[in-house]
Amino acid sequence: MKKIVSILTVFALVCLCAVPAFAVNTTAALTLSADKTTANAGDIITVTVSVSENSNLGALEFNVEFDRTAYTPVANSATTPVGALNPTVNLDYATGVRYTGATAGAITEGGALLTFQLQVVKPGSALSLNIGLASDGTTLDGEDVTDQVVANSTKSVTIACGHATQLSEITKYPTCTEAGNENIICTVCGKVVGSHTIAATGHTAGDWEVKTPATCTEAGEEIQKCTVCDAEVNSREIAALGHDVSEWTVTDEPTCTEEGVQTGVCARCGETVTEPVAALGHDVAEWEVTKGATCTEAGSRTGVCARCEEPVTEEIPALGHDFGEWVVVKEATETEEGSRERVCSVCGEKETEVIPVLTTEAEEGTTGTANPKIPQTSGAVAGGIAAAAMLAMAAGVAAVTLKKKREG
Ligand SMILES: [Zn+2]
Ligand SMILES: [Zn+2]
Ligand SMILES: [Zn+2]
Ligand SMILES: [Zn+2]
Ligand SMILES: [Zn+2]
Repeated sequence: MKKIVSILTVFALVCLCAVPAFAVNTTAALTLSADKTTANAGDIITVTVSVSENSNLGALEFNVEFDRTAYTPVANSATTPVGALNPTVNLDYATGVRYTGATAGAITEGGALLTFQLQVVKPGSALSLNIGLASDGTTLDGEDVTDQVVANSTKSVTIACGHATQLSEITKYPTCTEAGNENIICTVCGKVVGSHTIAATGHTAGDWEVKTPATCTEAGEEIQKCTVCDAEVNSREIAALGHDVSEWTVTDEPTCTEEGVQTGVCARCGETVTEPVAALGHDVAEWEVTKGATCTEAGSRTGVCARCEEPVTEEIPALGHDFGEWVVVKEATETEEGSRERVCSVCGEKETEVIPVLTTEAEEGTTGTANPKIPQTSGAVAGGIAAAAMLAMAAGVAAVTLKKKREG
């Protein structure tokens, strides 16, 4: 009954469109595609087989073939949006998924012929489309035109491995001085997906050890070796030891003004070693001052050496001034510098020093005194203060004059 209805429908289409039955469109093409280019185990991918345009193929059979241990079709996931009448889909076909277009209807639209879903078991496997011939064996100008549709088609896609789990494998171990290398490998497909260098470890210095011992006169050397590769990594000098003489004999006596010499034998190297003995310096018991030293000028003294009986003259250094306390000569004000002086008690030398202008900051700490930089409200009060200041200054000048007279 179904077949009869299909035949009637085809007949109706032929009448309506005035197209000869099964005049196959040889420019039509089939395309196999997937919604993912990479996938990992457990991922679901959607596979689509489309026809580019009206093919007018009477019927069509194709398989989407794949390794059934790599992909598992998802039950009830197949749809056939466009196609011949009554297409059927077998998701459990031995080599993949099989589509069979009905024999009673031509495929007259472009679009998706088949969609279905696959769950990835082993990532990285290819899918391919094996297109069967149209069941009617249509020929056009003596050629099997379905072959041309097949020739136009995209027959395979590859879903690459997503490399979900990776491990690193050292391909070259680093040394003290050379970098190593490590590859990153996908544990699913085994592909090397990355690589990076491992920094050189650097040396590990061991304990200091003597390489060349020091002698009495020559420096030695000690080194540190790497505990891993035995390379010499550090070096430092051991200072020369110097001779070891325990008993000296004076072989040339020193005088008041000239060095002597002492001689000994080194206990370590057996060498005879000589060393200078310092000059003794004159030995004067009584000095006579020939010129006294002042605050600023050196003096001198003479005597006779008890050892060599030579006359000896010696300088007496200048004494330096002996200044008393500072005395203020003129108090500093907010507008004028002051001065102070001090006098040497020995020679009367006078030293004068400037006292800097008073700053207003210093006044802020005091209480009760009016800041002279702030104008007073009463002219009489301001005048009074000015008069008092003048009086104080005059008194100061008088005191200094008195002091100078006394000194004279
Ligand atoms: Zn992989
Ligand atoms: Zn090393
Ligand atoms: Zn020695
Ligand atoms: Zn002397
Ligand atoms: Zn003096």
